[in-house]
Parts: sequence; C-alpha cells; structure tokens
Amino acid sequence: LVSRKKKAEDTVIDINGEKIGQGEPSFIFGPCAVESQEQVSIVAEAIGGKGLKMIRGGAYKPRTSPYDFQGLGLDGLKMLKKAADEYNLAVVSEIVTPHHLEEALDYVDVVQVGARNMQNFELLKAVGSINKPVLLKRGMAATIDEFINAAEYIIASGNSQIILCERGIRTYEKATRNTLDISAVPILKQETHLPVFVDVTHSTGRRDLLLPAAKAAIAIGADGVMAEVHPDPAVALSDAQQQMNLPQFDEYYDSLMKFMKQY
Ligand code: PEP
Ligand code: MN
Repeated sequence: LVSRKKKAEDTVIDINGEKIGQGEPSFIFGPCAVESQEQVSIVAEAIGGKGLKMIRGGAYKPRTSPYDFQGLGLDGLKMLKKAADEYNLAVVSEIVTPHHLEEALDYVDVVQVGARNMQNFELLKAVGSINKPVLLKRGMAATIDEFINAAEYIIASGNSQIILCERGIRTYEKATRNTLDISAVPILKQETHLPVFVDVTHSTGRRDLLLPAAKAAIAIGADGVMAEVHPDPAVALSDAQQQMNLPQFDEYYDSLMKFMKQY
C-alpha cells in the first residue's frame, strides 16, 4: 500500500496548515528531550518566531543506559503542548509503547516512532489505528526494504499519514554518530508515495555537520529536515554534543533559507 505502484501521486500530509510532501521542504526543530516548562517555552518561542509550524521534544526517551535521563513522560508532553499552543505549533513526540498512546494523543499531533522501535510491530499496528500523522524513523540497522515494510504495517492497519525519516545507520565509520544514508531519500521517494524527512542531528551526531547534511538532504529531494535545538546544550539531559543553541539555530535557519533560494 505504500508503494508507488499502488498510488502514483505523492502523499501530502497536512500538519497545522503545513503541507508535508508538497514540494517545499518543511522543518521540525526542538530539543532532544522535554526537560522543563521554561526550556520548551524558550525553544517554542524561537521556532514560532520563524513562522514554523512544528516543535519536537521527547517525553518518553529510549535511552541506551537505564541510568540515563528517561524523560518526563506525560508531564513532559503537557509542558510541550502548553508551549506549542502559545506559539501555534504542532507537537511531534515519540511514543514507545501502545500503552502510552491513548493518554498521549491529547497532547501530541504527530506520533514519532523511534529508530529503536521501527520493528516493534505491535506499536506499528497501534499507531496504524489512530487518525494522526506518524513520523517513522529508520532503524539504525534496518535495510530500506525493512523500513518500507515497517511503514506498510502502519498503512495496513489503516493509517496512511506516514512520514519516513532517514536518521542514519550504524556502520564501521566512527567520525559520525551514525552514517547518514543520503541515497535512501531518493530511493524511498521512488519506491513509495510517502514524504521523506532527514534527521540531521541523530545521523551525524555533530553540530558542525548539521548544516551541510541539511543542504544535502534538501538538494537530494527530502521533504523536510529535523534538527535539535536546546536553550543551553551544554547542560542538556540528553544529546548535549549535537543540539544547537538559539544563536546557532538562527544562523542555521538563515543559511538554509539562503541555500533554498538558489533552487
Ligand atoms: C529522537 O528523535 O528523539 C530519537 C531518539 O531519535 P532516533 O529514534 O532516530 O534515535
Ligand atoms: Mn536526541
């Protein structure tokens, strides 16, 4: 059902008035994790100030170590929703289990399925049964075919509002956190009718590569780019190495807008 052979036209997903997949790239910014009301409000103001329509922030964090910050859960979602409402932003946030889905839906506009859950088939079926867009991230060891099949689970359960997100795969290369598989973008665009995003933060894991990676994503035909922004990355409770602070966010966004005008 996600195949181009089944449906030739691009799927366009309306999120808060932003038409994802319609040609113009869209942007999702926000902190790695929701940490406090103040933290998300500051970032929401910066995003809203640019006329953008979406904010991200994790409340249920899938951390490698059980001793790392696990996220604020439902309280975090409430904070993010409050900040988002003030600046007319849609909330993008990861849900890690079907048990949390129902309570979260009051506060989340786009349900993110994270890399670690790309083949959590019960979660895929659960998000397939809701009437909200799903941002499906590629598993860090998933082939493109497995990624497409994960999207197929969602659409087969009844939800066709799916955004695919390339977020880097694990390779032998250590210079970046993951290896951004940039060619996945045109392949996914050819094979499926779904919009395709690139997460430049988790793929590169390097602040200095966020801009070049975003330019590459846009040049190769991505429908949007995701990147993390935090008021003070040095004290962030997760992903301190790779989030942009607010001046860096301004510069990044201005540079990307200039880059896009060249097309
Ligand atoms: C995230 O976007 O918050 C995240 C944890 O990313 P990923 O699932 O791609 O690792
Ligand atoms: Mn992160």
